[in-house]
Amino acid sequence: MVPLPLHLVNNMPTATAEVISIGDEMTSGARLDTNSQWLSQRLGELGVSVRFHTTVGDLLEENIEVLRVATSRADLVVTSGGLGPTADDLTRDALAAVSGKPLVQSDSALAHIEAMFTRRDRVMPPRNQVQAMFPEGSAEIFNPRGTAPGIDLVVPGQHGRSSRVFALPGVPDEMKEMFVETVMPRIVAQIAGRKVMKQAVIKCFGLGESDCEARLGEMISRLRFPRVGITVSAATISLRIAAEGESESQCDEMIDTTRQEILERIGEYVFGEGEDFELHHALAKLLERRGERLATIEVGHAAPLAGWLADVVPREVYAGGLVTSQVETAPEALRQRLATLQADWVLVVDRYPTLQSAGDSATELTLTLCGREPQQAWQQPCSLGGHPGILHARIGKSALAFARSVLETVPPAPAAELR
Ligand code: ATP
Repeated sequence: MVPLPLHLVNNMPTATAEVISIGDEMTSGARLDTNSQWLSQRLGELGVSVRFHTTVGDLLEENIEVLRVATSRADLVVTSGGLGPTADDLTRDALAAVSGKPLVQSDSALAHIEAMFTRRDRVMPPRNQVQAMFPEGSAEIFNPRGTAPGIDLVVPGQHGRSSRVFALPGVPDEMKEMFVETVMPRIVAQIAGRKVMKQAVIKCFGLGESDCEARLGEMISRLRFPRVGITVSAATISLRIAAEGESESQCDEMIDTTRQEILERIGEYVFGEGEDFELHHALAKLLERRGERLATIEVGHAAPLAGWLADVVPREVYAGGLVTSQVETAPEALRQRLATLQADWVLVVDRYPTLQSAGDSATELTLTLCGREPQQAWQQPCSLGGHPGILHARIGKSALAFARSVLETVPPAPAAELR
């Protein structure tokens, strides 16, 4: 196999890829395309830089067009879907058209498909024969679980450049096994001087996306390496550092330097690291370190804190939550609650508005954190607005951030040390 024409990224050669998901199910929105996410993660781990995701329905002409574009701009193209036996499964026809090769029958693939049917005590319907047809010159990708073999085909491009297409079935379990067992080793064998790619995800809360961008400045430029990407979900900002290097340790070094720069610019908003790491996990870690338990009281039309904290680890740091229509937030009243809930701290959100009433004006509410000792009572008035779809989450997260900021400065309660 001819080595890939490698592209230069940050002066280092990197193979590029496009991931294509095929099927009306995806373009209509009936099904979420999880295959592309999974494939991109695996390709990234191999050091392949995925540049494009494309989703296309079940029309032959459009499949041909998409494959033409993909093979002209990426070294590797991985498709999923459209390899079944029915008339709307068109990937093999589209590949034949793009490569300009006729479809020819593979006797070994046909034998495998027939054997699959025999094992299931069935006679192969004639239409399944089409699954044994491959564009001339392509290699098969064995499918141990299903009848649709995959197709591995080099499509010659312009200027002597070629692109290698791996076409896999859409069924996620079949696709994954075939990728890991067959496609991955073929890609690794092909990539000369393979690169390593590593990512780290830094989580922040408490500043808006545009403020975050302004403070990070040139760090989020697309020309910077390692690249720093911003995504926002329910008011939590994720900063993804993507490093590409010769070795894991080189990537780690690049990530460390970038992480340090981020902390210098917006460190006060950073609460942790990891794809799924959220504020309630950060608060749980802090409580665990302090050997303390927290209870929550939430008033109004939601109770996100109780939901989030219900599954933190270790379980003991959360003493439970009260969801109620009104509460007395005077410290003496809250201390009584602390005694019954057997907690060291109680965090109170005194208002989650109905989302209908959330409207344009900001919601005024007060956050309270109260401990067992007389001097341990903190209150913070808040004025929170934004899209109603994330307002309750924003209120809950503001409460968690408030509790964290207090507990980071207060020494652990003596009562906790005695327990
Ligand atoms: P088979 O012959 O095994 O059906 P196929 O290549 O024809 O393979 P499709 O018919 O396109 O596969 O898809 C089969 C099923 O796999 C779909 O009904 C859907 O449930 C799932 N699927 C397909 N593509 C995706 C995708 N991109 N992400 C998640 N699931 C998918």
